[in-house]
Amino acid sequence: MVQGITQVAQLRQRSVFLGWLGLGVIVLLGVGIFVHAQATRVFLNEAAGRAEGTLQLATTALEGYLERFERLPPLIATQQRILDVAVAPDDPARVDAANLFLRDVTNVLGASDIYFMDATGLTRAASNFDLPRSFVGGNFAFRPYFSDAVAFGSGSFYALGTTSLKRGYYFGAPVRDGDRILGVVALKVDVDNVEAAWSGADYHVIVTDPKGVVFLSSNPAWRFGLTRPLTSEGQDLLETTRRYAEALLFDIQVREQITPNGHVLWDTSLSRLPDDEARREYLLASSAMPEADWTLTVLQSTGPARAQALTFSAGAVLALALIGMVIAVVVQRRARLRDLLVMQAAAQVQLEARVAERTHELADVNKALGAEVAERRLVEANLRRAQDDLVQAAKLAALGQMSAALGHEVNQPLGALRNYAENAVALLSIDRKAETQTALERILAMADRIGAIARRLHTFGRRPGQELEAVDVIEAIEAAHEIAGPRLRQVGAELSVDIMPDLSMVRAGPVRLQQVLVNLLTNAADAVADSAERRVLLTAFEDADTIVLLVEDSGTGVPPDIAPRIFDPFFSTKGVGNGLGLGLSITYNIVKDFEGSIALVAGRLGGAGFEVRLLSANKQGLDAK
Ligand code: ADP
Repeated sequence: MVQGITQVAQLRQRSVFLGWLGLGVIVLLGVGIFVHAQATRVFLNEAAGRAEGTLQLATTALEGYLERFERLPPLIATQQRILDVAVAPDDPARVDAANLFLRDVTNVLGASDIYFMDATGLTRAASNFDLPRSFVGGNFAFRPYFSDAVAFGSGSFYALGTTSLKRGYYFGAPVRDGDRILGVVALKVDVDNVEAAWSGADYHVIVTDPKGVVFLSSNPAWRFGLTRPLTSEGQDLLETTRRYAEALLFDIQVREQITPNGHVLWDTSLSRLPDDEARREYLLASSAMPEADWTLTVLQSTGPARAQALTFSAGAVLALALIGMVIAVVVQRRARLRDLLVMQAAAQVQLEARVAERTHELADVNKALGAEVAERRLVEANLRRAQDDLVQAAKLAALGQMSAALGHEVNQPLGALRNYAENAVALLSIDRKAETQTALERILAMADRIGAIARRLHTFGRRPGQELEAVDVIEAIEAAHEIAGPRLRQVGAELSVDIMPDLSMVRAGPVRLQQVLVNLLTNAADAVADSAERRVLLTAFEDADTIVLLVEDSGTGVPPDIAPRIFDPFFSTKGVGNGLGLGLSITYNIVKDFEGSIALVAGRLGGAGFEVRLLSANKQGLDAK
């Protein structure tokens, strides 16, 4: 039952714990998502800031670089050597002079190439006249820098060189003779080294044309990639201007996304960029360069920002989880403590209840004990009274026994005395003196006997004193025999007495010693009463310092189960009216008074044997009185 309740409580606790755990996980997830979004925003903003910085630097550098060359073609177009060849383009001397001039100027300016085209667009002189891929003889009328220069007085264009196959930025300026345009001077700037200066650790810089074609890129993989699909119109234009000559354009397949903060993200992870490194997510910072018709874009890798955001949000979630755990532990501890206190209080109440109950029980038991003690006292008092009554009765019985014995003992001699006296009177009347004398002598003997009985009575009449003295065992035995004799004879018992010669006196009271022997002999007489063989043996001998008086009989003996109780007062097997059960207990007390001992032993005649050991009076320095 209790175990069931405990299990239910445990289950409930577990489900509560799981509920809290689930809630905690949901809260953590929510917080994680929120923090991650915020951190991503912050770190992307940071990345955007960096990209803007990079963008500004790159834009300034690129613009500065191009501006350096922008004003040079109009200047070169006014030079005499150019005007000379413009006026007479077929004059080899002028052409040579112009070629050399252009080569020198190119070297000084650090441009890629400078060349002069006549009004038809045919190149007449060029700085690379002596190189294998010389522009001389090439017609570039199709290039906008030529047509724009003719039409508007200046032109610029970026393209992949059709002859050199190198990307360049072209500036064109007309060569005039008054209002007449004789031709165009073009200057090509190499843009390769511009790109090289842009390489950065976690960003790329690209330059795209209005159609979205990447013209310049710090990462070569992006070159000539299409950041958005090309329209057919755009395609036509490209073909007309031959801007990218034979270069193969490819669609990068950029996936563009705009964040809520307005950041433009490009995901190139699934793009066709040939460089693995380049395929990732970028944050864009762009600025238009209207003069060049370019858009310069810094592609800032979002990886570090996202990694930072993830780390930060993971840290926040961990910290929150830790705080949550600490709170959970504290709450659990408190709950456990509270439970413990409740349990302790319950245990205390239970204990107090048990103590009260126990105290109550003890009080009841105490009361019962008190009642029992009172009852016992009453019983004891009653018992003592009954014991006193019985002792009194025993005394009376002993008196009666003695009176009977006395009556018997005195009656016989008295009867004989009377007979002899009558005989003596009769004999005297007939004067038979001799016979009269004999009768008188017998009368005397009878009187002596009565006197002896009277002496015994006298002895009995003496109160047993507390003083011990040297008592003659033989005298005691004889006296006892006198008293117990009638009983022995009554049952037909044969008494044999065996006394060791020169037996020492014992330390005792004479009357009480007789009483001891009378009791033992009477019991022996009772024991043999119903036996076929009725023998009683009284033995007295000396054993070291003690005198042993042994009374044995041929009776039935004492059964072992009652042996331990026979010395108890009022223990008797003789039935109502026959035994008081006091004989042996009185005997025991008397022997104890004599500082001796009495014990039941196996009798040699088949019945019981009582062995009384008394101290020898000689050793005690007592004299017979
Ligand atoms: P009582 O003789 O009045 O019964 P006692 O104290 O003298 O009381 O004896 C107690 C009991 O001891 C007797 O009832 C008897 O059973 C037993 N007893 C005593 N002496 C003998 C004996 N010689 N033989 C057998 N039993 C004896």
